[in-house]
Amino acid sequence: RLEIRNITRAFDGRRVVDDVSFKVMPGQVTCLLGPSGCGKSTTLRVIAGVDMQDTGEIYIDGKLICDTVFRVPPERRSVGLMFQDFALFPHLSVAENVAFGLSGSRAEKRARVEELLRRVDLGRYIDDYPHQLSGGEQQRVALARALAPRPKIMLMDEPFSGLDNRLRDEIRDETLRVLKEEGAAVLLVTHEPDEAMRMADEIALMRRGRIVQQGAPYNLYNAPVDRAAAAFFSDIN
Ligand code: ATP
Ligand code: MG
Repeated sequence: RLEIRNITRAFDGRRVVDDVSFKVMPGQVTCLLGPSGCGKSTTLRVIAGVDMQDTGEIYIDGKLICDTVFRVPPERRSVGLMFQDFALFPHLSVAENVAFGLSGSRAEKRARVEELLRRVDLGRYIDDYPHQLSGGEQQRVALARALAPRPKIMLMDEPFSGLDNRLRDEIRDETLRVLKEEGAAVLLVTHEPDEAMRMADEIALMRRGRIVQQGAPYNLYNAPVDRAAAAFFSDIN
């Protein structure tokens, strides 16, 4: 379970993230949804620990991970990352990519790699190299790699935006299935309302650094908090 409380982050005196609080429960997908520049990626970077907030606290499973004086380093936060410009290591095989963040014996690592590649339906590519895979297949390897060390929290920043439309729906569904099987708490950043509607258990709608509405997708769609929120959701078919 991820909980962030009153997170603020300013650049040059401008609050890009302004008093943001929300929770993400295990086995659930929470979408941080909002237009370009509203502060989504900045929020994610603070949670990942690659940037630091000015005020506020972050908790994982009730344990303090970061406040303004105390800070657990990124690699010890049990957080998996998947970004749009995810890059597989080109000189490593699919199996080596997925095993990258794993510790344990060779046999244990191999078992986990095989399990995950089976889950994303790529078992047959285990000894291939990234350049031999399509964009969608590489995306699924990136998902397997992020999930391999069993992170408690998965942070995903527009992970599907590099894919063409036809492929995107398929990869979204498959990703969702694998995430649910693994049971992580997922925070998915997107600027696309239809992606949030499709994938989220909970949506946090962000605008100019603030969360303006939060709830089940159905509720945000049916009872938008204001005109701007209504307009934002009106594009969905
Ligand atoms: P998008 O959907 O386009 O990815 P976003 O919601 O992820 O947008 P952020 O990347 O969080 O937006 O950026 C929010 C604002 O903060 C932007 O105006 C951006 O220019 C500014 N910003 C982000 N990082 C920095 C930085 N390191 N220094 C100065 N300004 C920054
Ligand atoms: Mg962004």
